[in-house]
Amino acid sequence: MIHEILPVGPLQCNCSIIGDEATREAMVIDPGDDIEDILALISKHNLQVKQIVITHAHIDHVGGAMKLRAATGAPILLNQNDYALLKMLDAQAAWVGMASPGKVEIDHGLGQADVVKAGPLTASVIHTPGHTEGSVCLYFAAEKKLIAGDTLFAGSIGRTDLPGGSFEKIIRSLHQKVLALPDETVVVPGHGPLTTIGDERETNPFLR
Ligand SMILES: [Zn+2]
Repeated sequence: MIHEILPVGPLQCNCSIIGDEATREAMVIDPGDDIEDILALISKHNLQVKQIVITHAHIDHVGGAMKLRAATGAPILLNQNDYALLKMLDAQAAWVGMASPGKVEIDHGLGQADVVKAGPLTASVIHTPGHTEGSVCLYFAAEKKLIAGDTLFAGSIGRTDLPGGSFEKIIRSLHQKVLALPDETVVVPGHGPLTTIGDERETNPFLR
């Protein structure tokens, strides 16, 4: 498994490029910004992007999706519960002082237990509302890896004070779905350093 993690944009969203060494098929998760840098890594590994997967519709995660779609032809996938937030990208841009990326079009919805793929590499979609209504995590069971979006961070959890956020829901999502995963699962949060489910289960103050 090729896995590049690239912090992009002013909010340093962790963009993941996941590629299969045999078929060279890839998915890009959360291309928030810096699409030229993402494309440079894709061509460095000689990959073909098949899916653009968005963990949730915040501008720092979705802002570069249309540019990446134009460059690769790959469809953009997002949970339908975040379509309303996606229509607020201009407002979101104003909150964080960024230029609006314009309209982002979704090609396919992404629901609980759906699967996203890069060649034989597959991740199941776990719907984890709380940070936003349509937040999802992506679980690569064979590789024991979780792309967590802004649901779980090393030592913290996603903020719930923005439109669509709910502290009760994120806590429920974390306890019922995320902490159900094995301790050895490596977690790639939407921002900041990697962690594991076991470390967060033991030390995250929000999960005790
Ligand atoms: Zn977010």
